[in-house]
This record gives sequence, C-alpha cells and structure tokens, in this order.
Amino acid sequence: NSGTLSGLNSSENAVPSDAKNLRVKLVLLGDSGVGKSCIVLRFVRGQFDATSKVTVGASFLSQTIALQDSTTVKFEIWDTAGQERYSALAPLYYRGAGVAVIVYDITSPESFKKAQYWVKELQKHGSPDIVMALVGNKADLHEKREVATEDGMELAEKNGMFFIETSAKTADNINQLFEEIGKRLPRPPSS
Ligand code: GDP
Repeated sequence: NSGTLSGLNSSENAVPSDAKNLRVKLVLLGDSGVGKSCIVLRFVRGQFDATSKVTVGASFLSQTIALQDSTTVKFEIWDTAGQERYSALAPLYYRGAGVAVIVYDITSPESFKKAQYWVKELQKHGSPDIVMALVGNKADLHEKREVATEDGMELAEKNGMFFIETSAKTADNINQLFEEIGKRLPRPPSS
C-alpha cells in the first residue's frame, strides 16, 4: 500500500547521530512464513505468539540496545511492505538500509534457496556498506531440520555475512543476533 511505501525513502536512514549513539535502518528479507515478524516481536516486545498471524502493525518498530563498549544502537526495523509477494517493491524497501537480515527456516530448503536469491539481490542493488546477516530460524524444530548448519555457514562465509541460527519461539540467539549486528556497524569518526 502506497501509504506505507511513501515512508520508505532513505533520507533519514542509516545516519548515525554520533560515535556513541548509532541509529540504523534494518530490513528483514526472506520467504513468507520463515518467522520474520516473530523475530522482531521477540526482540522488541519479548513475546512469541504461535497462534495468530502476526502483523507488525506500524511502518516500523524501534528498539535500542547497549553494547559492551557503551555504544547504543537504535534499530529502526521496517515492516516487510509485502516484499515477499511483490518483489518489484523490494528495492524501495531496502533502499537506505544499513542492515539487512536475510531469514530462512531450517526446516525449509525452499526458504534457504530464497535466502540465496536475496544475498545476490542485495549485492547487486543494496548500498555497498550494508551489514548483512544470515539467519536460520526455527532452530527449535531440530527433528524437522532440512538445512544443515554448515550450509548456512558456508553461504554466509562466502558472502562476508554474519551467520546465526535462532528460535523466535524459545528466544534462543535473538538478542545475540542484534548484538552481533551492532558490533559490526561502521562507526562514524569520533570528534
Ligand atoms: P513471516 O511471514 O516471515 O513474518 O513469519 P511469521 O513471523 O508470521 O511466522 C510464521 C509462522 O512460523 C508462525 O506460525 C510462527 O508461529 C512460526 N514461527 C516463527 N518463528 C518460529 C520459531 O522460531 N520456531 C517455531 N517452531 N515456529 C516459529
């Protein structure tokens, strides 16, 4: 919907305000159903809702974390704007993003294939200094696993991405995901 998209231009994104307080636009990419909304809600609200289809319900949610070096990072996490269904809209969505989190579901090889597509897409069209993370979600479903951890690792390594397996359901590695991204953000020169 155009109301959502009109907010997506990049002018106010990825501009760290100073060396100690970073602010960054973060987008999540990946197949529908891999758990993107659940990851965001787990991170921002500490909740998991398995029953209903979650919608973030705002153009973005934000969450600030403190890192060990006393830097704070404010993540502005954007709604997917239907990018799974309408891939032509995707560039509008990830333009100006300082962070792209590409999510797949470890029980779905198709979703892993789609993740590989997004890696290529971002390399072609994303901003050159974007921090990219690859996330294998639903790690709690180990008995249904169909994507080996090594496959995720290899894809990430080849493309200079950070890799982690998470569970939005159990909260496993969710905070770690965002902390590791925070550590990898480019720091503006301190004055
Ligand atoms: P999105 O379309 O990528 O935003 O996916 P959702 O966040 O809506 O999640 C899709 C479905 O996967 C929902 O039924 C969730 O309950 C379920 N789900 C999300 N994350 C996990 C997880 O870590 N473990 C398990 N077992 N289910 C999950």
